[in-house]
Amino acid sequence: MSNILWPEIYKKLGVKPVINARSWVTHLGGSLMPREVLSAMEEASKSFVDIVELHKSAGKIISKICKSESGLVTAGCAAAQVLMSAGCITGTDKKLISELPNPSTHKKEILIFKGQRNHYDKNFEMSGAVLKEFGDESDVSPKDLYQKIDEKTCAVAFAMSPFLSTGLGVLETAKIAHEFNVPLIIDASAVLPPVENLYRFIDQGADLIAFSGGKGIRGPQDTGILAGNKDLVDAAFENMICFDSPKATIGRSMKVSKEGIVGLVTALEMFIDSDQDAIWDSWRQKAQFIVEHVSSRAGLTIKLEENEDRQGPQAVLYFDNMWKGLNSEEIRESLLDNDPSIYVGAGGVSGEINIVVVNLQDGEEKIISDKLNEILN
Ligand SMILES: *Cc1c(COP(=O)(O)O)cnc(C)c1O
Repeated sequence: MSNILWPEIYKKLGVKPVINARSWVTHLGGSLMPREVLSAMEEASKSFVDIVELHKSAGKIISKICKSESGLVTAGCAAAQVLMSAGCITGTDKKLISELPNPSTHKKEILIFKGQRNHYDKNFEMSGAVLKEFGDESDVSPKDLYQKIDEKTCAVAFAMSPFLSTGLGVLETAKIAHEFNVPLIIDASAVLPPVENLYRFIDQGADLIAFSGGKGIRGPQDTGILAGNKDLVDAAFENMICFDSPKATIGRSMKVSKEGIVGLVTALEMFIDSDQDAIWDSWRQKAQFIVEHVSSRAGLTIKLEENEDRQGPQAVLYFDNMWKGLNSEEIRESLLDNDPSIYVGAGGVSGEINIVVVNLQDGEEKIISDKLNEILN
């Protein structure tokens, strides 16, 4: 084991820490919370409060920051997706809320562009909603959406992710949905930073938007944000906790603790106050270090890439047929065999290796470079 920190509690549990050069992924623990977030959570743990009151107050902070009518802390972006879809079916109708996931209404279809189908869209269906596609895998026109939208449509969904198509775009999709009085709901889990994305898409017409609290925002890994239209956020909240109904609502399995609510709003406030340029520069330096120390060679090119849509600057290794060493998969396996294990990203189509630095602790860029040189030479 190298000199990276092995917290006593993980030692006791027999679980070794790893180096996360893959990004804010759930699989490796999301992000590391700033000390201030942890102390706010500890403080919150010292007394009882009325959870509804705490939610309302946290919601006001979210709505101010997201420039939306209303806001809600959820149990991750995935939970926000379930609740937004539930809210679009039920509104605040107590009978429909109690019926989910089998609502007695035909207005429960959610339209999604086929090219945006993804790992997480099941969350939209957990409420009982039915996903219907428009467009084909790579192509979509306004006509495709016009043809599918009808009286059974309760929402149009939009998904954002570095490798997903932007389809008709938020503006156009919102415009068409609104012609039919149908809300546009967005999974924008991991598009932070930049900070402006917290309000950009609401400004472009999104009625509800969901973000992860435990990725770029660096709040608790099991929190998220729902922001947007007041009636719809109220509807989502009723689907989460409805203390006065005889039966639990579907969102009962997605509750957020008082510590989680406090941790999320603290992290969110720190996120918008942070010096994003300085943070971006520190990421660029780590990526640049790796590019310089692992230099290109015959058949292998290593480049610094930075793109606002792609989770910070990264060092990317590309292989061509001149390359005579281990293949991309074997390299990734050797990195995992290291002590500590090094997890890297495999984002692309051509077997490249993405070393994402947003979650690297100081010094880990050197451990990665040394190990890569050992494997590649
Ligand atoms: C991570 C992710 C989610 C899930 O977010 P959680 O906060 O982990 O629940 C949903 N959608 C996309 C595109 C994601 O990247």
